[in-house]
Amino acid sequence: MSAYDNNNIFAKILLGEIPCKKIYESDFALAFHDIHPQAPIHALVIPKGKFVDFADFSKRATEAEAAGFTKAVGIVAETVGAHHQGYRLISNCGANAHQEVPHYHVHILAGRPLGPMLNKA
Ligand code: 5GP
Repeated sequence: MSAYDNNNIFAKILLGEIPCKKIYESDFALAFHDIHPQAPIHALVIPKGKFVDFADFSKRATEAEAAGFTKAVGIVAETVGAHHQGYRLISNCGANAHQEVPHYHVHILAGRPLGPMLNKA
Protein backbone atom coordinates (compact mmCIF):
# COMPACT_ATOMS: atom_id res chain seq x y z
CA MET A 1 0.00 0.00 0.00
CA SER A 2 1.36 3.42 -0.89
CA ALA A 3 1.42 6.47 1.37
CA TYR A 4 -1.65 8.67 1.61
CA ASP A 5 -1.86 11.15 -1.28
CA ASN A 6 -3.03 14.51 0.07
CA ASN A 7 -4.04 15.54 -3.45
CA ASN A 8 -6.54 12.75 -4.04
CA ILE A 9 -10.00 13.89 -5.10
CA PHE A 10 -11.74 12.90 -1.86
CA ALA A 11 -9.15 14.81 0.19
CA LYS A 12 -10.07 17.87 -1.89
CA ILE A 13 -13.79 17.25 -1.32
CA LEU A 14 -13.13 17.05 2.44
CA LEU A 15 -11.31 20.39 2.28
CA GLY A 16 -14.18 21.93 0.30
CA GLU A 17 -11.88 22.56 -2.67
CA ILE A 18 -14.10 20.41 -4.92
CA PRO A 19 -17.89 20.46 -4.53
CA CYS A 20 -20.02 17.42 -3.78
CA LYS A 21 -23.71 16.68 -3.36
CA LYS A 22 -23.59 16.16 0.38
CA ILE A 23 -25.89 13.64 2.04
CA TYR A 24 -24.55 13.52 5.59
CA GLU A 25 -21.67 14.71 7.73
CA SER A 26 -20.46 13.87 11.23
CA ASP A 27 -17.21 14.21 13.18
CA PHE A 28 -16.03 10.97 11.57
CA ALA A 29 -17.54 10.77 8.09
CA LEU A 30 -18.77 12.63 5.04
CA ALA A 31 -21.26 11.12 2.58
CA PHE A 32 -22.15 12.36 -0.89
CA HIS A 33 -23.61 11.13 -4.16
CA ASP A 34 -21.24 9.40 -6.60
CA ILE A 35 -20.54 11.56 -9.65
CA HIS A 36 -21.09 8.57 -11.98
CA PRO A 37 -23.89 6.58 -10.33
CA GLN A 38 -23.96 2.85 -11.10
CA ALA A 39 -27.47 2.41 -9.67
CA PRO A 40 -30.47 4.68 -8.93
CA ILE A 41 -28.98 5.17 -5.48
CA HIS A 42 -25.19 5.40 -5.33
CA ALA A 43 -23.73 7.09 -2.27
CA LEU A 44 -20.13 7.25 -1.09
CA VAL A 45 -19.18 7.39 2.57
CA ILE A 46 -15.65 8.47 3.46
CA PRO A 47 -13.90 8.83 6.80
CA LYS A 48 -12.62 12.29 7.71
CA GLY A 49 -9.20 10.89 8.58
CA LYS A 50 -6.44 10.20 6.08
CA PHE A 51 -6.76 6.50 5.25
CA VAL A 52 -5.76 5.00 1.90
CA ASP A 53 -8.10 2.01 1.88
CA PHE A 54 -9.92 -0.47 4.10
CA ALA A 55 -6.70 -2.24 5.10
CA ASP A 56 -5.19 1.04 6.27
CA PHE A 57 -8.39 2.04 8.09
CA SER A 58 -8.73 -1.30 9.88
CA LYS A 59 -5.14 -1.04 11.11
CA ARG A 60 -4.90 2.60 12.11
CA ALA A 61 -8.38 3.95 12.87
CA THR A 62 -9.15 4.59 16.52
CA GLU A 63 -12.14 2.80 18.02
CA ALA A 64 -14.07 6.07 17.90
CA GLU A 65 -13.23 6.53 14.20
CA ALA A 66 -14.15 2.93 13.35
CA ALA A 67 -17.43 3.07 15.25
CA GLY A 68 -18.28 6.55 14.00
CA PHE A 69 -17.66 5.54 10.40
CA THR A 70 -19.68 2.31 10.67
CA LYS A 71 -22.60 4.19 12.23
CA ALA A 72 -22.40 6.77 9.45
CA VAL A 73 -22.71 4.10 6.74
CA GLY A 74 -25.90 2.82 8.36
CA ILE A 75 -27.34 6.31 8.78
CA VAL A 76 -26.59 7.19 5.16
CA ALA A 77 -28.19 3.94 3.90
CA GLU A 78 -31.36 4.96 5.73
CA THR A 79 -31.15 8.60 4.66
CA VAL A 80 -30.99 7.75 0.95
CA GLY A 81 -33.79 5.17 1.32
CA ALA A 82 -31.55 2.23 0.47
CA HIS A 83 -32.60 0.05 3.39
CA HIS A 84 -36.21 -0.56 2.22
CA GLN A 85 -35.44 -3.04 -0.56
CA GLY A 86 -31.90 -3.98 0.30
CA TYR A 87 -28.57 -2.59 -0.75
CA ARG A 88 -24.98 -3.52 -1.45
CA LEU A 89 -21.89 -2.14 0.24
CA ILE A 90 -18.67 -2.20 -1.75
CA SER A 91 -15.23 -1.09 -0.69
CA ASN A 92 -12.60 -1.58 -3.34
CA CYS A 93 -9.20 -2.08 -1.75
CA GLY A 94 -6.10 -1.85 -3.94
CA ALA A 95 -5.20 -2.65 -7.53
CA ASN A 96 -7.01 -5.95 -8.15
CA ALA A 97 -10.22 -4.40 -6.84
CA HIS A 98 -9.80 -1.43 -9.24
CA GLN A 99 -9.77 1.13 -6.45
CA GLU A 100 -9.62 4.47 -8.28
CA VAL A 101 -9.56 6.98 -5.43
CA PRO A 102 -6.91 6.31 -2.74
CA HIS A 103 -8.97 7.55 0.21
CA TYR A 104 -10.93 4.80 1.98
CA HIS A 105 -14.61 4.82 1.00
CA VAL A 106 -17.68 2.63 1.03
CA HIS A 107 -20.14 2.61 -1.87
CA ILE A 108 -23.84 2.22 -1.02
CA LEU A 109 -25.70 0.88 -4.07
CA ALA A 110 -29.46 0.41 -4.21
CA GLY A 111 -32.70 1.19 -6.00
CA ARG A 112 -32.89 -1.81 -8.34
CA PRO A 113 -31.99 -5.50 -8.28
CA LEU A 114 -28.20 -5.42 -8.34
CA GLY A 115 -27.55 -8.82 -9.91
CA PRO A 116 -24.78 -11.22 -8.94
CA MET A 117 -22.02 -10.01 -6.67
CA LEU A 118 -19.29 -10.12 -9.34
CA ASN A 119 -18.97 -10.27 -13.12
CA LYS A 120 -17.53 -13.60 -14.25
CA ALA A 121 -14.82 -11.85 -16.30
P1 5GP B 1 -13.37 3.32 -6.43
O1 5GP B 1 -13.11 2.73 -7.79
O2 5GP B 1 -12.15 4.02 -5.91
O3 5GP B 1 -13.94 2.31 -5.47
O4 5GP B 1 -14.53 4.38 -6.61
C1 5GP B 1 -14.31 5.74 -6.77
C2 5GP B 1 -15.66 6.38 -7.04
O5 5GP B 1 -15.53 7.78 -6.92
C3 5GP B 1 -16.21 6.11 -8.45
O6 5GP B 1 -17.48 5.48 -8.35
C4 5GP B 1 -16.30 7.51 -9.07
O7 5GP B 1 -17.44 7.68 -9.90
C5 5GP B 1 -16.34 8.40 -7.86
N1 5GP B 1 -15.78 9.73 -8.08
C6 5GP B 1 -14.60 10.03 -8.67
N2 5GP B 1 -14.39 11.36 -8.68
C7 5GP B 1 -15.47 11.90 -8.05
C8 5GP B 1 -15.82 13.25 -7.74
O8 5GP B 1 -15.11 14.21 -8.04
N3 5GP B 1 -17.00 13.44 -7.11
C9 5GP B 1 -17.82 12.40 -6.75
N4 5GP B 1 -18.96 12.70 -6.12
N5 5GP B 1 -17.51 11.12 -7.03
C10 5GP B 1 -16.34 10.88 -7.67
